[in-house]
Amino acid sequence: MSSNLRDRGREFDVIVVGSGIAGLSAALAAAPRRVAVVTRGELARDGASTWAQGGIAAALAADDSPALHARDTMAAGAHLNNTASVRRLVEAAPAAIAWLDALGVDFDRAGTGYALGREAAHSRARIVHACGDASGAEVMRGLAAAARSAAHVHLFEYCQAMALLQRDGQTVGLRVQHRTEVATLHAPAVILATGGVGALYRYTTNPATADASGLALALAAGAAVADMEFVQFHPTALAPVGDHSGQLPLLTEALRGAGAVLLNRSGRRFMLAHSPDAELAPRDVVSRAVWAELERGERVVLDATRAVGAAFPEKFPTVFASCQARGIDPRREPIPVVPAQHYHMGGVRVDADGATTVPGLYAVGEVACTGVHGANRLASNSLLEGLVFGRALGQRLALSDAAAPSGESSADLDAAHLEPVPAQIDTAIRDLMWRHAGLVRDAAGLALASASLVRLADTTRHPAALGRIRVAQEIIVAAQRRTYSIGGHFRRDAVQVAAG
Ligand SMILES: Cc1cc2nc3c(=O)[nH]c(=O)nc-3n(C[C@H](O)[C@H](O)[C@H](O)COP(=O)(O)OP(=O)(O)OC[C@H]3O[C@@H](n4cnc5c(N)ncnc54)[C@H](O)[C@@H]3O)c2cc1C
Repeated sequence: MSSNLRDRGREFDVIVVGSGIAGLSAALAAAPRRVAVVTRGELARDGASTWAQGGIAAALAADDSPALHARDTMAAGAHLNNTASVRRLVEAAPAAIAWLDALGVDFDRAGTGYALGREAAHSRARIVHACGDASGAEVMRGLAAAARSAAHVHLFEYCQAMALLQRDGQTVGLRVQHRTEVATLHAPAVILATGGVGALYRYTTNPATADASGLALALAAGAAVADMEFVQFHPTALAPVGDHSGQLPLLTEALRGAGAVLLNRSGRRFMLAHSPDAELAPRDVVSRAVWAELERGERVVLDATRAVGAAFPEKFPTVFASCQARGIDPRREPIPVVPAQHYHMGGVRVDADGATTVPGLYAVGEVACTGVHGANRLASNSLLEGLVFGRALGQRLALSDAAAPSGESSADLDAAHLEPVPAQIDTAIRDLMWRHAGLVRDAAGLALASASLVRLADTTRHPAALGRIRVAQEIIVAAQRRTYSIGGHFRRDAVQVAAG
């Protein structure tokens, strides 16, 4: 445990920022190197990974193959994917599942093999899951147990990465904060595994730790980013009470798969007018239809009373618990929903080995852009990405003989670094991005959001706030450059390019 930074070693071979599936996969695979894992909260419980419901995609069924998995991944990504990365991802998937199994992850089974679920846009049943709809929690339980007992892994929990240290253009360490204490950790390799950008949007399914701080650190260090405009939204999050912004409980797609329908205030199934597949149309189509209803002032509900009814607690325990906590009984009443930011396909640009454009700086998982998702992510490919590319990166660094740079352990951050982003700035960014750089974009809205962010930046010297504004601006610039609609990027002032 990291209760006191003063008593801890400061020299490592590798520093991993983040303890989600990507960070822990990399840390474990980097043995026997001395690895520091710096994470915001409690190990493995503070990121999006633990919230994952559906599971992990892998071509394991007799009628499936990595080639089919690749085909579905490319179709979902509108063929903007990096084909070499996709091939690597799908071919490594079965072995990656076997590795988790060997670590003790208790996947749901059917007969002699795994129980394989089928999700939208997958042409085969290939979703390996655990504990029904609590897959992420079980996977992270297994990874956390392995990390806690690994002698080469040194844990810095409740620690925040504040700044990357560079010497002569080379990454040499990281400044971290634990409560009011600040320290410097040294290593010739720093891996960002900090997750997504949920904190940029009014509604998100991501936990608060997905605040884009890893992207901001990378940008400040001069790293290139890619595909920033591609943000995925989930159509059905549990609508908040009042003007709450931030994380909302996810109502899994499997509910619509089971027959739950979306209704507006007049009880009309509006999805029938948008797609022949109605509620089972692609995520972004359903999300925009829900958004359009809400924009018209309609309330939207997901009605699972007939399709699921009394079986709710047993079939969807996580969703049932979220509804109950909000005083809703989904067995008997429809659930109010809003769309919510869910996943960022773009991120810090990395090569096939996870290296960014800055020497010694690596990125993996949702914060990185390997190009594997193209313009839109295929469901259940993101846990897989963290797992496959995390392990590969750890193995690569295990073979590296870069020496740990030694140096003083200074602590020269000013007090402003230690404060959270001011609430009014947090809210202003979320609202601007939600309205103008979210589900539906156009030139005028993007220009307005950009100018507003410039003005907002002038009102603060808060480093984390400025970092977050910088990431938001990168999304806007990329969205302005891509003047047509494709994948998760929708311009209402342009024509849709058909997925090839
Ligand atoms: C509700 C929900 C359901 C999902 N369901 C699925 C699913 O079924 N299948 C699937 O494949 N994907 C799913 N996803 C997406 C998937 O969970 C994420 O894309 C994936 O878990 C990201 O993993 P990661 O390791 O990159 O980041 P995370 O798991 O988010 O971990 C990020 C880590 O970085 C730490 N961190 C961040 N900033 C700092 C900082 N400045 N200093 C120190 N530490 C920091 C955090 O504390 C955390 O430990 C779901 C996502 C959500 C939100």
